[in-house]
Amino acid sequence: MEEKHLKISIAHLYPKLLNLYGDIGNIITLKKRCEWRGIDVEFEEINIGNEIKEHDIYFIGGGQDKQQEEVAAELYSHKEFLTEERDRNAVFLGICGGYQLFGHYYQPHDKEKLPGISLMDAYTVAGNKRFIGNVTAKTDFLNPPTLVGFENHSGLTYLQGETKPLATVTVGNGNNGKDKTEGGRYKNVFGTYLHGSFLPKNPHFADYMIKLALEKRYGEKIELKTLDDKLEIQTHNSLIGKAY
Ligand code: GLN
Repeated sequence: MEEKHLKISIAHLYPKLLNLYGDIGNIITLKKRCEWRGIDVEFEEINIGNEIKEHDIYFIGGGQDKQQEEVAAELYSHKEFLTEERDRNAVFLGICGGYQLFGHYYQPHDKEKLPGISLMDAYTVAGNKRFIGNVTAKTDFLNPPTLVGFENHSGLTYLQGETKPLATVTVGNGNNGKDKTEGGRYKNVFGTYLHGSFLPKNPHFADYMIKLALEKRYGEKIELKTLDDKLEIQTHNSLIGKAY
């Protein structure tokens, strides 16, 4: 299919509350990598009180426990719709706090458990140590296989059932600092602890998401035009293996 006639719709969930470490950079990357290919982008910001309609990609960033609390109740009210969207193969990306809310719950220290929307079979409990630093992780489905970013979380996430890790940690802590897993994926739902922001330094994953979203929208295989990613790959490679 000719890329110039392609369209994609992207929703940014609760950017006024969950946008730690410039997670908005992930939205900018998705938009730009579509626009550079002549793919029309329909974009919608979803804030507290807004309805959520069908989109091809849903993005949610990270935030402190307080902001997560505000978002959790609201997000939970959309659980049924977003689960249907997941089962229609919409693409989701959650970063850190947003990722934690993709699971069944996030249990902060000395506070009520925050309900998640169970897009993934996972749960998160607050740990006693804050994991802060660079992360290098390796996937079994990307080329190049590596993902790089910056983590800052005390939450410990555990994956269950058919929810698989996004990657295996080679530098840093990832989901819980114990089982060497980083992030999670189930169907087209992806979560990661990598801030930074994540996608500008991992353009191959941004393209992987765009390709999945277009194939879901048009119901056929779609090859994306190659972009000149010299700078992005230089940045990505400069962070591989770097702890601090
Ligand atoms: N509040 C959560 C934690 O500390 C998420 C933090 C974040 O989004 N960086 O684990």
